[in-house]
Amino acid sequence: MKIICIGRNYADHAKELNNAIPSSPVFFLKPDTAILRNNAPFFIPNHSNDVHHELELVIKINRLGKHIEEKFAPKYYSEMTLGLDFTARDIQQDCKEKGLPWEKAKAFDGSAPLGKFISAEPLKNGDLNFELLKNGKLQQTGNTSDMIFNINQIIAYVSQFMTLKIGDLIYTGTPAGVSKVEKGDILVGNLDGQELLSCKVL
Ligand code: ZN
Repeated sequence: MKIICIGRNYADHAKELNNAIPSSPVFFLKPDTAILRNNAPFFIPNHSNDVHHELELVIKINRLGKHIEEKFAPKYYSEMTLGLDFTARDIQQDCKEKGLPWEKAKAFDGSAPLGKFISAEPLKNGDLNFELLKNGKLQQTGNTSDMIFNINQIIAYVSQFMTLKIGDLIYTGTPAGVSKVEKGDILVGNLDGQELLSCKVL
């Protein structure tokens, strides 16, 4: 399986990092070794001094597809959750300046904690709020209606380039409010008022 992550999909987050609003979805991959399940703790890697949390809505692909039309995209996922796209911002900045790929900044072990999956029906029927609490304080809030490219557009776009397979995950981008994590932080993700993810930073 593969993890597809969409970058710069919320205007307020693109702005906080001084990135331009993209005219087509920006995406990158993480390997399956990035996944943390069952609220496993996250260990800050030695290679970074500036790891940021990015809270994102995640969908799971449930059938094989290529060149999927937008109107059929809702048939290609039935479960969703929240995930964290941990990012070594110092390394990412260095890669950006040198025009290098982002894997060292984005694809390291443990960089993709995943919450509990629930039915994606509510998402297909309307907009959902989600939020990240850091040590009990509200740190990120988002609403799926604020995505620059919605989930159907993302599925249609990405599937032009790579076949989507059962079990593939799509991280759909983070809203504003990303911040550096420190040892001892507790990150909790709520979707539509329901806690789906909790991650301790070590
Ligand atoms: Zn992200």
